[in-house]
Amino acid sequence: MISHRQKPATPWLLIVLFIVISASSILLGYFYYKSQKTRLLNDKRLELSAIADLKVRQIAQWRNERIGDAILIGENTPFLKLLSEYLHGTNNKVLRSDIIENLQSITRSIEYKNILLIDSSGNVRGYYPNQDTLMGEHLKLLFPGLIKLKSGILTDLHRTSNVSYIHLDLVIPLLNTWKKDSTLFGLLTLRIDPNEMLYPLVQTWPVPSKTAESLIIRQEGDKIIYLNRLWFKKNSELVLQKSVSEEKLPAAMAVRGIEGTTDGVDYRGATVVAAMKKVPGSPWYMIAKIDQNEVFSALNEQMTMIIIIIILFILTAGLLLGVLEWNENVRFYREKYEAEVDHLALRKHFDYILKYANDIIFLTDRNLIIIEANDRASEAYQRDRDELIGMSLSKIRAPGAVKELENESRILDEKGYATYETVHIRKDGSIMPVEISARKVEIEGVKYFQSICRDITERKFAEETLRESEERFRKIFEESPISIVMTGKDLGIIRANSAFCKMLGYKEEELKSVTLRHFTHPDYIAGDDVSLLRLVAEEIPVYHTENRYIRKDESVIWGSATISIIRNNNDEVQYFLAMIEDITLRKEAEAELIAAKEKAEESDRLKTAFLHNVSHEIRTPMNAIIGFSALLNEPDTPEADRRQFIEIIFQSGSQLLSIINDIVDIANIESGQVKLNIKEMNLNSSLRILDEQFSYKEKADVISINLHTGLPDEKALIITDGTKIIQVLSNLINNATKFTQKGRIDFGYSLKDGNLEFFVKDTGIGIPPEHHDKIFERFFQVDHLISRKFGGTGLGLSICKAYVELLGGKIWLSSNPGKGTDFRFTIPYIITPKSK
Ligand code: ADP
Repeated sequence: MISHRQKPATPWLLIVLFIVISASSILLGYFYYKSQKTRLLNDKRLELSAIADLKVRQIAQWRNERIGDAILIGENTPFLKLLSEYLHGTNNKVLRSDIIENLQSITRSIEYKNILLIDSSGNVRGYYPNQDTLMGEHLKLLFPGLIKLKSGILTDLHRTSNVSYIHLDLVIPLLNTWKKDSTLFGLLTLRIDPNEMLYPLVQTWPVPSKTAESLIIRQEGDKIIYLNRLWFKKNSELVLQKSVSEEKLPAAMAVRGIEGTTDGVDYRGATVVAAMKKVPGSPWYMIAKIDQNEVFSALNEQMTMIIIIIILFILTAGLLLGVLEWNENVRFYREKYEAEVDHLALRKHFDYILKYANDIIFLTDRNLIIIEANDRASEAYQRDRDELIGMSLSKIRAPGAVKELENESRILDEKGYATYETVHIRKDGSIMPVEISARKVEIEGVKYFQSICRDITERKFAEETLRESEERFRKIFEESPISIVMTGKDLGIIRANSAFCKMLGYKEEELKSVTLRHFTHPDYIAGDDVSLLRLVAEEIPVYHTENRYIRKDESVIWGSATISIIRNNNDEVQYFLAMIEDITLRKEAEAELIAAKEKAEESDRLKTAFLHNVSHEIRTPMNAIIGFSALLNEPDTPEADRRQFIEIIFQSGSQLLSIINDIVDIANIESGQVKLNIKEMNLNSSLRILDEQFSYKEKADVISINLHTGLPDEKALIITDGTKIIQVLSNLINNATKFTQKGRIDFGYSLKDGNLEFFVKDTGIGIPPEHHDKIFERFFQVDHLISRKFGGTGLGLSICKAYVELLGGKIWLSSNPGKGTDFRFTIPYIITPKSK
């Protein structure tokens, strides 16, 4: 993304991160220092406490040892006796040298620098060595108390004028213990130089240290007296004094009764850690102390390292974050640079587009005054760029389109963009339809409109052509006498013309929810599907078929269909276009033609059979007539034979006549010359005569012919062509006799629904059902061989049918092969006035 910022943003995050890292490092260092300090201080306190303890015990022990020395000497009776003797006696030189010798042996112990032998009056009577021969003022002051002593004591450290060094004395009372009532007879004072033992005991420090120091003090009134030589103050022993009330002074705290360890300020004013303890059995207090500076010096060194590390760490973090920020800045400036480059490229690109664009590009101000126009605009409007700039947009609008300009610019201003079509005008006044895509742009707070205008003259022309072509197609489609239907890929109907609707009896809107299969007769659907697949696969260019279709009223029609595919630009199937021609009439005509042809062929075949029959039927009686006529000529033919021959000739003649009559009748029927001869008929009596006529055909016990009259005689007087009825009935009875070998023949009539229904019923060979329709056709015979055997031409039943229909009735049959046949026909029952 191109950055539009002028400056890189302040890296607050990095700064905060840096502060957090720095603060945490410093805090970490601080807490570490604190904890280390506390730990060191505690360690040092423990150490000081242990050292003070040790020293106090050593000093106490040293003092005890001195008191022990006093007891040892005080209980040495021989030595005491010697001393007593010497002190009570005179200047016995021998005794004196003995005593000196003894004192000398005592001073061999380095502790004791000088020994004085004092009598009970306070006079020095002996000494060793001989530095001090007098009792010092310190001892003199104590003397009244000392002579009351029962056991040895140690005096405190003190300085006297006659002794050059600070010392303390072990005063041993000399008692004559060997007497019953022991009394003091003198004192032995052993002077102790503390530099020899006591001070080293106090001052030596067990571990090397620059500021560690242990010292002993005692209280004198409200003062504290430092008893030993101090490390940092020369010649301070018994000289340096401090006030008991000094709050932070460990020595003052000790004399105030505080024991243990403390932080404080020592005699120099330096901050120290100190341990304080009282030396038991003495007025002394032990102070062991060390400068806090020394305690913390190692830590301070370590802390210096840690501080350096922290500083380095912070610097490194700062550096890293700085590098990050620097990188960010570099990236920012690089992006800025790239954005500048992109901007420049974009600008060049834009200039290029503006110059060479195929579309007209305008920039106008909000008053629609052109402030920039490209070369294409100059070319299109036939105006120079200079001429265009400063011109109002309305000037390049066709007069009819100017009034819309205001509304269009308002919409553009509101929505920010607009696309519309309008008409522009060139300088020469020619019109140019354009498509405009306009956008509102804001530069530095000023509104501009940028519009891209495309000359759509060609497109408009193409649209118009397309529209006309579509209109033409629509007209052809709609007005075509051939049914046309457009379906989708699934054969769902999209559009159907009126011929199609009419052909199938639907309204167009009823077709919208169905497919072409809905109308296709089920016998053709599978075949259609296969062929349509072949069509889609481009195996066949179009698909022609002749199908049956089902109309809305469920009647079936024939259609000749031509189905083609309409594909889209990607060659995908989009529509099927089916043109269907109603060929029902043609199909019916064809069927009739075929039927007629078949009929003609059948008729031909029947005629051939008829000719065979006729020739046989004619030849048989003719031969009989000719043959028996010749025999009649024979003179010697007996009379009986002659009569029989005449009978045969007569019958053959009748047979011949019947055949000729049949042929004549059929010829008359065919030529339409048969006329009805309607008159009164006595039906019952006519039928009785017919019954009688056929009685000759009855064979006893084998075949009987029975008449059934359906009306009483008085009702049987009717108006009709009686001859024809009798001819029909005799034909039927004749056939019945021909085809019935055994059983009975019943004939007669009954009145049914105002008609007379006649019947001729036999128990003969019967007629197979498939021939029931054909039986009334001319020349038809079920079995030529059988018929030939019985005689006949196949004309009888067709004559019957023609006559019955002429009489206004109909004829039919029912038959069971092997069981018999029942022929029936009707005629209207028209009675004569007499029959009522
Ligand atoms: P035909 O002169 O040959 O008898 P028809 O027209 O009278 O001619 O009869 C046609 C054919 O109908 C006969 O050849 C015969 O095969 C059949 N037929 C007619 N009547 C009967 C019947 N009662 N029983 C059986 N077959 C019959």
